[in-house]
Amino acid sequence: MDMKLLYRQVIMDHYKNPFHKGLVDDKDYTTIHLHNPSCGDDVVVQVKIENDIITDVKHQGTGCSICCASSSVMSISLMNKSKIQAQNFIDEFSKLVMGLPVDEKIINNDAIVFQSVHQFPARIKCATLAWKAIEEGINKK
Ligand code: ZN
Repeated sequence: MDMKLLYRQVIMDHYKNPFHKGLVDDKDYTTIHLHNPSCGDDVVVQVKIENDIITDVKHQGTGCSICCASSSVMSISLMNKSKIQAQNFIDEFSKLVMGLPVDEKIINNDAIVFQSVHQFPARIKCATLAWKAIEEGINKK
């Protein structure tokens, strides 16, 4: 199995059929809007936190396939996690996209496909935009 091809396939699947896409009009959600001028990616992330647990994540945006797919993967990765677990996942994901070794007990899902991004430094910001947004949202509450 060609891993590069597999990774590309997973990214395209999330890009075409993203999870948790679409925003809600609900004041129980914290909304963060981030922009990546180097690529033109524009992402809005909404997070709902109840008793320290992320009970819902929403996202909407326009951008490249890496950015949009990463938003989808972020939403499934952090759903139902505590704020601390989510922060750990975000920290490991930042290492992953920089090509550093990660704890695969934490990065245990489709997020792993973004490890190829470090070969394209200009795309690292694309891959991390939605994760930076939710990190801000988590720390606001
Ligand atoms: Zn991008």
